[in-house]
Parts: sequence; C-alpha cells; structure tokens
Amino acid sequence: MRYQAFLIKYAEIGIKGRNRYVFENALIHQMTAALRSVNGEFHISKEQGRVYVNIEGDYDYEDAVEALSRVFGIAYICPVVVVDSQDFSDIAKEVVSYVKETYPEGNEKTFKVFTRRGNKKYPMESMQISAELGGAILSECPWMKVDVHDPEVSLHVEVREKIYIYSESIPGPGGMPVGTNGSAMLLLSGGIDSPVAGYMTAKRGVALDAVYFHAPPYTSERAKQKVVDLARLVSRYSGSIRLHVVNFTDIQLKIYELCPHEELTIIMRRYMMRIAEMFAKRDGAMALITGESIGQVASQTIQSLVCTDAVCTMPVFRPLIGFDKQEIVDISQKIDTYETSILPYEDCCTIFVAKHPVTKPSIKQIEKSERKLTGVIEDMVKEAVDTAETIIVEP
Ligand code: ATP
Ligand code: MG
Repeated sequence: MRYQAFLIKYAEIGIKGRNRYVFENALIHQMTAALRSVNGEFHISKEQGRVYVNIEGDYDYEDAVEALSRVFGIAYICPVVVVDSQDFSDIAKEVVSYVKETYPEGNEKTFKVFTRRGNKKYPMESMQISAELGGAILSECPWMKVDVHDPEVSLHVEVREKIYIYSESIPGPGGMPVGTNGSAMLLLSGGIDSPVAGYMTAKRGVALDAVYFHAPPYTSERAKQKVVDLARLVSRYSGSIRLHVVNFTDIQLKIYELCPHEELTIIMRRYMMRIAEMFAKRDGAMALITGESIGQVASQTIQSLVCTDAVCTMPVFRPLIGFDKQEIVDISQKIDTYETSILPYEDCCTIFVAKHPVTKPSIKQIEKSERKLTGVIEDMVKEAVDTAETIIVEP
C-alpha cells in the first residue's frame, strides 16, 4: 500500500487551550527536524486542529514512521491513502481497494465508516457518504461486517481538497514537544540510568544539555566516546545536546587525598552537582537531572540524596526516583540505549569507591570533611569549568 500522507494525532497538547498554537508549532518544528534525515519530500501542515504530513513522490515509509515515532507530543501516527478526485465512484473504488489490502479476506472484521467533511461544498452529507461507502464495502468485501457500536475497524474518510482514507494508528511516544518546557542540565554518565532520566525529562518537553565528568587516565577515551554515543542516542528524542566534558581527575584525587574514604562518593557527587549547576546557569538551563533512584546504591539513600541536594540552588529532577532497576532497564531497551550503556568501560565513580561507603551521611559531617578542601579546591573547580570541552551532539 502506498500512503501519501500521515495524520498526526497529538497527545496532551490538544488540551492546552489558548496556548495550543505554541505547542503545535513546536511539534511541527520537531517533526520537520526528525524527517530531515529521511528520504522523501515531506510537507507538514496544520489545519483545523490537526497536523498532516503530506508526501510528494517516493519516500521511505519505514524510516518516516520510525522518525516520527521519536517525536514527543505525538500520540498516534495514522498512515493515509490520498485520493485525488472528488468523484464519488472513484472514492468508493479506492475505499474498497484500501479495505481489501488492509484487511484481506480470511479474517473477518467488524467495521464502521466515519466521514468528516472539511469541504462543506461537497454535494453529499457525511452520513450519506458513510452509508454508501459502507454499502460498497459490504458488497465487495463480504468478510467485513458492520458494527456501529463497537467496530474493530474504524475507517475514516475525510473529504477535503483531496480525499483522505485511514484506519490504522501507530502509537507515538506521547509527551510534549521538546522546546515547550525550557531546558535542563543532565548529569550524563556511561551507565544505564542517566540516559533514561534524560529521555524521560525530554518527554515532557524539556530540551537537554549535558555534563559528563571524565577522569583520565582512570577513565579511558573509550569511556568518553561511550558517553558521546549515549548522548547521540538520547538526542534522537530530545534534539541536539550540548555536552560538556569536564576533566574531574584533579578534584577527585584531592578529595581522595584529604577526605575520609567512606565519604568519597558523596563529596564527589556534591562537586559534580556544583559544577553541573555552573554549566546550567551558563547555558540557561533551569534544573539539573540525574538518574538516581532511592536506595539503588549507598549514594542514593534518602540521607545521601539530601546531602547532594544541599549544594544545589536549582531544582534537581530525578525522574527515576521510584523506579526499580528492571523498570529502568526496560525503558533503556525500548529507547535503544541499553546495549551502549552495558559496554564494560570503567566510569569515574567505580575507581574511587570505598569498601564501606557511608549510607547515612549527615550534612554537618560532610561539610566538616569538605572544609579540608577549602583553599585548594576552588581553583581546581574553576580550572575544570574553564577547560571543559563542549561537544554539540546531533541526532
Ligand atoms: P547511571 O547508570 O546513570 O550511571 P548509577 O546507577 O551508576 O547511574 P551513580 O554512579 O551513583 O549511579 O550516579 C548517580 C547519577 O549521578 C547518575 O545517574 C548520573 O546522573 C550522575 N553521574 C554519576 N557519574 C557521573 C559522571 N561521571 N558524569 C556525569 N554524571 C554522573
Ligand atoms: Mg554510573
């Protein structure tokens, strides 16, 4: 079957009242960007509360659907057969052949025809069009049965300048178009969790920047490349990501030298947050995002999270906070980051971990330990920020 258009049904943006156009325009912007890399000529238009993709000539159907299924804000993608004739007998012929191809003989289906008359000048009423098309289907496709209350197939016919026929809905990712809800700074490590946390925040319309703490020579170039690759996978959903790669080695070594080893992870995490916030302010991001979930490891007990949060002035979003590991893994598989996340390159937190990290740190105690860094750490932080490498990661 050759589909010449897609009808895009959108999720929550349908309920945004007077600001709806802002969301629709952002959706169209994101769809345009997503389709840019797909073979074919696509024209996106907005009409009467709907968004259509009209397609000129040949194109790659699978690629187009895949690209659209990563655009947040889309609830369903409906592939449409377009009939370039207003003649009712042509329309009936096309509808019958659509049904024959989409629901071939052999599996009985119930159906109902729904007509929407965008072109009010069309000489037949909607009800009459539905009834006559229903009759044509019944006589040409005897395996199809009418059920007006609970049909298995809802066959939609839209009478516009051309005639649009569709019945299938491919699920989109839901959420809101990226760009409609500001931007946030993702602390992106090479693990399973943070890419998922980025995805989930972007799903609510938030654009992403990211920061990765690199600790050469303890962490390798391959570990860094893995993070760039993860950022690229996330950017297929979020759009381009400005990734700051911070050299964290000196700060880590200094903490290792001067602070109690069971507190290393917490203190390190606090410095990561402080630095991430500096980049967030510079980039205009309004919040931080991490992949933490309560109790997953020592640095994610509620006491540890309180200690980490204490150094932030921005809100810290932790979209995975209530998720079990397996639930996070399931999402990472769905969004295709899992295989990259499990590549076995060391991350900087695994090198400096203590045998028995504190699980119930107190802010007071941690602040006391951090005072040992006063006078030396400030310049190191400044140096780390000033020498960071910024990579623009495009989908
Ligand atoms: P992940 O799977 O995301 O690496 P994790 O389970 O390994 O998470 P931690 O290592 O405790 O957990 O890290 C918690 C969060 O801190 C991560 O989800 C990430 O947001 C951030 N983080 C940890 N290490 C780094 C790093 N090297 N660079 C940037 N962010 C980091
Ligand atoms: Mg990690």
